[in-house]
Amino acid sequence: MKMIRSLLKMCSRRVYQVNPLDQRLVISSTIINETLELLCSYRDKLGAHEGVVYWAGLFVPGCTVVVCVIAPEAITTAGSFTIGPQANARAISAAVRHGWRIVAQVHSHPSSKVDHSIGDDQEAFLPYPGYLSIVVPDYAMIPASSVAKWGFHAYCASGFQRLSSSSLQQQLLVIPDGPTNIDLREVTTR
Ligand SMILES: [Zn+2]
Repeated sequence: MKMIRSLLKMCSRRVYQVNPLDQRLVISSTIINETLELLCSYRDKLGAHEGVVYWAGLFVPGCTVVVCVIAPEAITTAGSFTIGPQANARAISAAVRHGWRIVAQVHSHPSSKVDHSIGDDQEAFLPYPGYLSIVVPDYAMIPASSVAKWGFHAYCASGFQRLSSSSLQQQLLVIPDGPTNIDLREVTTR
């Protein structure tokens, strides 16, 4: 794991031309579950709010690898969210500290609609080719297995473009949960 992390860190220092429509998105089930938990945590005593998180990760040739979910300070309501410049700066700096970059913003919608609103297009934070904006339906109160039904919008030269379900099926690679080390040595006592 350590070796893979160092390799990814090394690759991330190089600049790759990222075509978001060809790029595979690699993410673990753990990150998907933590994304849902954090999105659901934006609420007040009256009920659920739209939630927002960033995915931090790395670009390697042909792949975007998501390694961490960052929950920024945000002003949220039942139908909107706003992240101020300082909160965004703190999110970037939290990612950069580990050699990562912000590869996607993920936010929830109150209904089953996962298309971008006009506001989502206009207010996306610093989009660049390869950046993803992902919309999770029903205030994220849904199972992780629904990930293929979320709205994945990739930023291209012409703006955000929603990935079709067949593209997403080819591009999304979810790594199942499992231990991060397995020691098969027999324990011997002297
Ligand atoms: Zn939205």
